[in-house]
Amino acid sequence: MKNQGLVMLETAQNTIIKAAKEIKLDEYTTQKILKPNHVHEVSFTFARDNGEKEVLQGYRIQHDNTLGPYKGGLRFHQNVCREEVEALATLMTMKTAVAGVPFGGGKGGVIIDPKKLSQTELERLSKAFMRSIAHVIGEDVDVPAPDVNTNPQIMKWMLSAYEEIVGKSSPATLTGKPVENGGSKGRTEATGRGGVFVMRELLKKLSKDTKAMTIAVQGFGNVGYYFALLASELGHRVVAVSDSKGALSLHGKDASRTLDITLVNQCKLEKGQLAGCYCVGGVCDVSKKAQKTNEELLKQDVDILVPAALENVINKDNMKDIKAKIIIEMANGPVTEEAHDYLTKKGVLIVPDILANAGGVAVSYLEWVQGKQGYWWSEDEVNSKLEDIMVEAFNRVWDYAQQKKISLKQAAFQTALQRISKAV
Ligand code: NAD
Repeated sequence: MKNQGLVMLETAQNTIIKAAKEIKLDEYTTQKILKPNHVHEVSFTFARDNGEKEVLQGYRIQHDNTLGPYKGGLRFHQNVCREEVEALATLMTMKTAVAGVPFGGGKGGVIIDPKKLSQTELERLSKAFMRSIAHVIGEDVDVPAPDVNTNPQIMKWMLSAYEEIVGKSSPATLTGKPVENGGSKGRTEATGRGGVFVMRELLKKLSKDTKAMTIAVQGFGNVGYYFALLASELGHRVVAVSDSKGALSLHGKDASRTLDITLVNQCKLEKGQLAGCYCVGGVCDVSKKAQKTNEELLKQDVDILVPAALENVINKDNMKDIKAKIIIEMANGPVTEEAHDYLTKKGVLIVPDILANAGGVAVSYLEWVQGKQGYWWSEDEVNSKLEDIMVEAFNRVWDYAQQKKISLKQAAFQTALQRISKAV
């Protein structure tokens, strides 16, 4: 059986090949964009708290830097493999081009389960990995960021290891840092906020009455929580949310209401899960029917479905049961190729991940600019610049899709390839 990383890589490459054919891109440029510029595979020593030493394997794949320094996250996960990192680096190249920020694409990771590590081990791991890739990154070369199981604290440790090596302050070398260490205001909420800007623009194009529309959000982490919160602040009706342990959904006499996302979040923070939060603050029916499984959430009869947790959750097994008319891909790759084609034929509008969740990399760009110039913007300034970037990106992709009568995913890949190929 093929590993999941290889499946992801083949999917990303096939989508690029298809888009390249459609825009009649020449063979040289297509090959240049398909192949990563550099694959850095490193092994490095990591010491456990008890003094035992281990040799760990990590990657930094620099896919393409035609439009600017390589950009993309570093993840710690036991399933990291070369193909997966290459697939994600490839998609970063497409995402930065869609967002219109002056970066290329990169990604990295270490094969390890960080949940089994102590805080001190996590710090040593972060610094040891950074020492093994420090010679290939830099603010004008390759700018890493957090990804799965890495966070602002880890970026802070990595930056300190990097600055020790280069002997100078270099805040623009990593993004996603804590605000006190040169991070940008607004970065934490940026991916969710960017997705809500995209949804707002889409609904304007469709002339939909936003207040009447219902939304279900799968995943209540950084992306899903802020998407749900900011969407409900805009007046949308978020009626179902879920995390890895289950979903909750308004129904019965509460079906016409909206979840109070702040209260739901408070409950989740107290209980550690969403299950059992269905009657919090009287916002929803106390009936057990309010609790659903994640699979039921995906099949719920809502206007807008927002998968914001994992890849491949909408696939051949459940695509026929999806009732939403709009899907906003906030996770990376939540809709498989087969499900995308099936749902698109059925008339479902799918906003692709490389557009919908580009808000994170957009504010990473703003953090990089602030770090390079040593001048910091207020949260309102950052949010307003994010809005400009997302609205412009959405309109570019939408207009192109309308003009060519193709899906938003095809339009996103084709416009990204055109932007890169012009620069090539
Ligand atoms: P996170 O770890 O903060 O949250 C993930 C959420 O998904 C959690 O609430 C978790 O309980 C839930 N979850 C896990 N398994 C689930 C399951 N089987 N069913 C339903 N929910 C499940 O992660 P995040 O940063 O919010 O990232 C979510 C997705 O968005 C990922 O695909 C990530 O690659 C993508 N993404 C994140 C960012 C960012 O800035 N954080 C940017 C672009 C894309």
